[in-house]
Amino acid sequence: MVVQSFSGRVQVQFMNAVPPNSASLIAALTGVLSDGGLLTEAEDLVRYSRDWSGDHFGRPLAVARPSSVEEMSALMRRCHAERIPVVPQGGLTGLVGAAVAADGNEVVVSLERMNRIRSISPIDFAMVVEAGCILEDAKRAAEESDCILPITFGAQGSCRIGGNVATNAGGFNVLRYGMTRDLVLGLEVVLADGRIWNGLKVLRKDNRGYDLKQVFIGSEGTLGIVTAAALKLFPRPTQIETALVGLRSVEDAMALYARARRGCSDLLTAFELILRGGIEITMREGKDFHEPLGKPYPAYVLIEVSSGGLIDLKDMLLSFLAGVEDLVEDGIVASTRAQGERLWLYREIMVERQGRGGRYLRTDVSVPISKLADFVTDALFELGRARPDALPVTYGHVGDGNIHLNVVPPEGMAAEAIEHLFEEAEAEIFAVVDRYGGSISAEHGIGRVKQRAFLDRVDPVALDLAAGIKDAIDPRHILSNGRILASASALDYR
Ligand SMILES: Cc1cc2nc3c(=O)[nH]c(=O)nc-3n(C[C@H](O)[C@H](O)[C@H](O)COP(=O)(O)OP(=O)(O)OC[C@H]3O[C@@H](n4cnc5c(N)ncnc54)[C@H](O)[C@@H]3O)c2cc1C
Repeated sequence: MVVQSFSGRVQVQFMNAVPPNSASLIAALTGVLSDGGLLTEAEDLVRYSRDWSGDHFGRPLAVARPSSVEEMSALMRRCHAERIPVVPQGGLTGLVGAAVAADGNEVVVSLERMNRIRSISPIDFAMVVEAGCILEDAKRAAEESDCILPITFGAQGSCRIGGNVATNAGGFNVLRYGMTRDLVLGLEVVLADGRIWNGLKVLRKDNRGYDLKQVFIGSEGTLGIVTAAALKLFPRPTQIETALVGLRSVEDAMALYARARRGCSDLLTAFELILRGGIEITMREGKDFHEPLGKPYPAYVLIEVSSGGLIDLKDMLLSFLAGVEDLVEDGIVASTRAQGERLWLYREIMVERQGRGGRYLRTDVSVPISKLADFVTDALFELGRARPDALPVTYGHVGDGNIHLNVVPPEGMAAEAIEHLFEEAEAEIFAVVDRYGGSISAEHGIGRVKQRAFLDRVDPVALDLAAGIKDAIDPRHILSNGRILASASALDYR
């Protein structure tokens, strides 16, 4: 059967992967992996079936856990030959339903047994890490070599390097060090047909032909399985200073940001906005967390600066803050590292507790930094107009234009009504994002959850190019079918 896309490109649908029944699947995959590499018992599959939030669930046909790139290659060769659909899985913190299996339809390929640090070179300021390495373990290893791997965010104790690459993860330090894309020097990738692309290198400059690694970064498992990454490191800062300040408005927070970028001598590493509601969540839920600045303010910003020696960093931060008294209503500067970490807990506890243990709508949008304050005002206005019963929780790495405008349903609301609330609230927020020329996904990617919103907005030429890349690299569509792009069987949607 042949399906024609709107642009005239021809897709051959019968080439798609067909989920086998479990007996034939086990027969096909038996013997490909070393001991313990293939899990098929229902109770063994449970922990690979649900993501960090618990909102996304999918029962895999089986879980394959290769322990080397050679095993990964053999596995994919077999899956390609047998047209077995697979989904790569890291730490399950991606939150857009991309890493869990389509229920009863896919084999999860877990990277957890490929977790070695292959090398670290403080002279090259680079490390080579296997994709299943937990981000925090990679960061610790870098620090042991007096370097830092600057990807930093709340899920770092669970997410894995392959997941970070596949989602082009950001985090608190993007404004200084960039996204994961800016930190990848090379990749090793196993393709859908089992071929190994060895693009691992630690060169800073290399202009030989296409930069193929960029195709795989942010591809959410749809183009290949990342098995290792060469990552940039930076000198480990010897000084880190943290402040929490209270402000009258988001507008003042963004004015402060503009001054901080220049006034902190480019040593700014984080600039996190939290609106009052978020601080109240921490105060309510975190037993020992009192009013952080003595009295409430509409907006708060966590500022972090870091540097090596030869600079009096605390003095620099204090001088900067003394010069912005027209914007900052009140603030505290941590006098020790421990105090600084405690200030960060106001943000971390808020993120964990915002849904009061239940479901909430997550958005991770971005707009140009210059428009962020107006965007927040308009989006909260539209949300309040459409759904005054919804509780917005607003925070973000605003130094890179990223804001989470999450929505918590009223207590006791029925499940069906919550679904309706989420749909309405998301549509309102995304409409304002569109007005400001922003992105509906600044961090977590598209996966399955944001697919409809993505396809409704994507440029048709970009979509055609993307579909062409998918067809060229994974012609049988066995890899993460139906994430980002519609599954081939739904191509007529385009
Ligand atoms: C509390 C919390 C805070 C967060 N904060 C941030 C933040 O500040 N910034 C940010 O960007 N994100 C953030 N995230 C999102 C998430 O942590 C990142 O997207 C992370 O990079 C996902 O990594 P993972 O290992 O959990 O991947 P998974 O969730 O397991 O997978 C994510 C996607 O990557 C694919 N994938 C996984 N491994 C591979 C591989 N080896 N090869 C190919 N594809 C693969 C999966 O198929 C899936 O499509 C946060 C999440 C949580 C829960």
